Amino acid sequence: MKYFLIFSLVIIFTGKTIVSFAQQPNGDFNISKGLLTLSEVRIISDNSTVSATLHKVDDSNDFIFELDSITKVNNSFSHYDPNEGILYIPSITVGDEIYQKIQLEMIVPQTNPLRFRLIASEVDLKNTLKQVQALVETKPVPASGDAADDPAIWIHPLDPAKSIVIGTQKKGGLGIYDLAGKEIQYLADGNMNNVDLRYGFFLNDKKVAIVAASNRSNDSIALYKVNPESRELENIAARTIQVGVSAYGLCMYRSKPSGKYYVFINDKNGTVEQWEVIGTEDGHVDATLVRNFGVKSQVEGCVADDELGHFYLGEERVGIWKFGAEPNSGDEGKLIDTTRNGNLTPEVEGLAIYYINETDGYLIASNQGNDTYTVYNRIGDNEYLGKFQIVANEALNIDNVYDTDGIDVINVPLGESFPYGVFIAQDGENINPEENQNFKMVSWEQIAEALGLKKESSYDPRI
Ligand code: CA
Ligand code: CA
Ligand code: CA
Ligand code: CA
Repeated sequence: MKYFLIFSLVIIFTGKTIVSFAQQPNGDFNISKGLLTLSEVRIISDNSTVSATLHKVDDSNDFIFELDSITKVNNSFSHYDPNEGILYIPSITVGDEIYQKIQLEMIVPQTNPLRFRLIASEVDLKNTLKQVQALVETKPVPASGDAADDPAIWIHPLDPAKSIVIGTQKKGGLGIYDLAGKEIQYLADGNMNNVDLRYGFFLNDKKVAIVAASNRSNDSIALYKVNPESRELENIAARTIQVGVSAYGLCMYRSKPSGKYYVFINDKNGTVEQWEVIGTEDGHVDATLVRNFGVKSQVEGCVADDELGHFYLGEERVGIWKFGAEPNSGDEGKLIDTTRNGNLTPEVEGLAIYYINETDGYLIASNQGNDTYTVYNRIGDNEYLGKFQIVANEALNIDNVYDTDGIDVINVPLGESFPYGVFIAQDGENINPEENQNFKMVSWEQIAEALGLKKESSYDPRI
């Protein structure tokens, strides 16, 4: 069975070692771009795996392909064709890249290890863990231990460079930071666990951005508006909005069909409450319970898709559920991906959506257990698109991101560092130097380029 494909193999430059290839029978190797274009690939079955190491042979373009033994090749690896002298391998990991559908041509028979020349392969983008780096980290939170949790980004109406990051400090309050990570305001208003915001809420005939946070000190929904001049939060809750659950995760939803604003708040038993946010005549904001549903075990992270009307909920040890976000959507959820044979690693923590336009974009989940983030399509059945991790940025002395709880992402250009928006993640261990936890900011451009995602966005989250 033969397929004819054009594809590119990105050569990896690891340290000083430059990997190069033998003369390609059907290929075109562009040295300056580091791209190998091959015109013909034989597709082989993916149901075999083999553990092996590929070494470049000094002063030649050949590789030594090391298996445990020749016997193993003959007996347990069905894709070695002695007549052709070609070894077919389903996948090989080199550095952080995974190559699929490898064809290796034997050069010198009867040597051990066998010597092969790579004649074809294909990069497996979806299963390759991509690495990105933070460009900014925020000031550490005031409390030590596991204290920072969930960020939200507010976009300034006139000057996006003046946008702010709101971060929860679950041992005492909310920190407000500018895009350089400097603290603008700190509100010691209670043990705030999660935070989210929505724009365009009419309050006394003026549009305001509403910020909601889950306050674990008194199991309430804390409500603020953003003052665009001072870039500070102002408390606008009409009262202490006590909820019926032990307050934990929280996210907001603005309904397209009704124009109404909602807060979802959940607890460690898996119960979710949906509250409608309502303005009062004296310019405050109140909320009323409109729906109660849930799943069977601990939840926290959630996000609503305002355009498509979905509510995503992370059941930490199970996976990601998709519900309707309207109060009358019912209790039926659909599990879109799981920690069992899926693309998630428990615990599933923060969830966030990158909007490209009204329908296109990405759903991103934090896998706390292995410090990675999984990306899905927003539309349709939420196709899995890839994974990334945030490694240390040594040039800027910003440490890697570990054990992430909450995340947020925004599509709006925020100046030179973040021309296509920013992704923010809580860092569970803020080192170099050792300090309290904080939030790390990664350019969306870098994530999009690493995973082959779109970065141009026409979506305006401010309505
Ligand atoms: Ca944590
Ligand atoms: Ca959690
Ligand atoms: Ca870190
Ligand atoms: Ca640091």
